[in-house]
Amino acid sequence: MADSVASARSALDNIRSRMEKARRRFGAPPAAVELVAVSKTFSAGAIAPFLAAGQRVFGENRVQEAREKWPALREAYPDLSLHLIGPLQTNKARDAVALFDVIQSVDRDRLAALLAREMARAEKRLPCFVQVNIGGEAQKAGIAVAETVDFVRRCRQEHGLDIAGLMCIPPEGAPPGPYFALLATLGGEAGVDSLSMGMSGDFETAIAMGATHVRVGSALFGQRPPSG
Ligand SMILES: *Cc1c(COP(=O)(O)O)cnc(C)c1O
Repeated sequence: MADSVASARSALDNIRSRMEKARRRFGAPPAAVELVAVSKTFSAGAIAPFLAAGQRVFGENRVQEAREKWPALREAYPDLSLHLIGPLQTNKARDAVALFDVIQSVDRDRLAALLAREMARAEKRLPCFVQVNIGGEAQKAGIAVAETVDFVRRCRQEHGLDIAGLMCIPPEGAPPGPYFALLATLGGEAGVDSLSMGMSGDFETAIAMGATHVRVGSALFGQRPPSG
């Protein structure tokens, strides 16, 4: 365990110093950028060294997987924060509210309404992000760019959700900068404070465009098995 904690610490230090350099170089407004360590596909045993090394904010993309891994880890580290970063089916809304601290993938009214109902039932008010289909890709989750501002308004006023920010995953294989810039513009129009954008390959660019949350998986935990 000592060795794995040391290597988790050095992976975290490396990413954090790259984040800090990007923030200073580009002078992006947010005072601090949150590192969301994306632990999907990695076992609780692989995650534990990162907790021991001080990391407290993690992202998972599947409710079922989170249910198997996180309750025991949370018992050991009650101050951790778990973000849902993957698509959420309405029949998993109750479990999601029970397991997660932040929901980053709100993208339709039916889901927003259900999340609001489940949060009321659980007497919780979780911060949420609206996921934007920033590249207009047919197969991708997220609200359309043109509908984003009105959807954020509905989430707040009609559903009563606490919308902290916007989240996006740019199209693969295209330079991400313009998509990050577009998300930042939408965030300004929608009146949100947080932008969740940037992954292992492009988090420095995202920070330059004003990311407040970056979601970094493989650069911390190593390569995922294919299809993860
Ligand atoms: C897997 C995943 C990430 C992390 O991807 P890496 O390239 O491994 O950093 C970030 N965001 C979402 C939504 C993901 O599903």
